[in-house]
Amino acid sequence: MAKRQVCKVCRTKYDKSNGFYPVCSETCAVAYVDIKIRTDKIDKIRELTKELRRKKNDILRTDLDRQFRLTQLAFNKLRKLEEFKWFHDRGLEPTCISCGEEMGEDFWVCSHFKTARQRPFLKYDKKNTYLQHGMRCNKYLRRDINGTETTHGYIKGLSLRFGKIYAQEVINYCEDGFSDLEYTWQSVEKMRTLFLGEAKYLKEFEHILRQKNLTGNY
Ligand SMILES: [Zn+2]
Ligand SMILES: [Zn+2]
Repeated sequence: MAKRQVCKVCRTKYDKSNGFYPVCSETCAVAYVDIKIRTDKIDKIRELTKELRRKKNDILRTDLDRQFRLTQLAFNKLRKLEEFKWFHDRGLEPTCISCGEEMGEDFWVCSHFKTARQRPFLKYDKKNTYLQHGMRCNKYLRRDINGTETTHGYIKGLSLRFGKIYAQEVINYCEDGFSDLEYTWQSVEKMRTLFLGEAKYLKEFEHILRQKNLTGNY
C-alpha cells in the first residue's frame, strides 16, 4: 500500500505518488506555491532585519559617548548601592554627604566631588563619589562643596563621615590626582561589565533606589 501523506495545505491525507507532493491536488499546489513565496519573503526580511540590527549594534558599540553614558549609569547605580550598604553595615540610615540629612522628600544621586568635566579620569572612581540629595544639594546647591548657612557642605561632610585624616586623603587624591588614562569604547564597555557584576551582589539594597526614583536617574 502506498504511503499516505498529510497535505501541507489542507491537511487531508493523500497518496504520495499523486504527482503533487507535498500537497494533495493541483488546487493545493497553487496555494502551496503562494504560501512558499510569502514565507520565503518573510524569512528574507527577517534575515535582513537581523543583519541590520547587528550592524547597528556594532556602530552603537563603538560610539564612545554612548559607552560613557551607559557606563556612568551603571557606575552611579553601583555607588548608590554601595553607599546604602555602607550605612546599613553601621546600622545607620543613609544620609547626604553635604547636608548630613536623610532622603526626606528628595531622592538620592551618586555625586562626584570632582565632576567628570573637571577630572575625566575620576568619573568612574569610587573615592570621588558619595551619596547626595539629587534635587537640593546636587542640583540647586551645585553639589554644595563648601557648605551654606544651613549645610556643612561636601568637604566637611567627608570629615564627618570618615574622619579628618581619611577625608584629607580623599580630597588630595581628587584634587591633585593625575592620570593620562585614555578611554576607549572597549575599556569603557569592560568597566561597565565589571560595575554591573559588582552591583549584582548588592541587590538587597535596590529597593531603596526604587523608593523615589522620580527622574529615572540612577
Ligand atoms: Zn490539499
Ligand atoms: Zn543633602
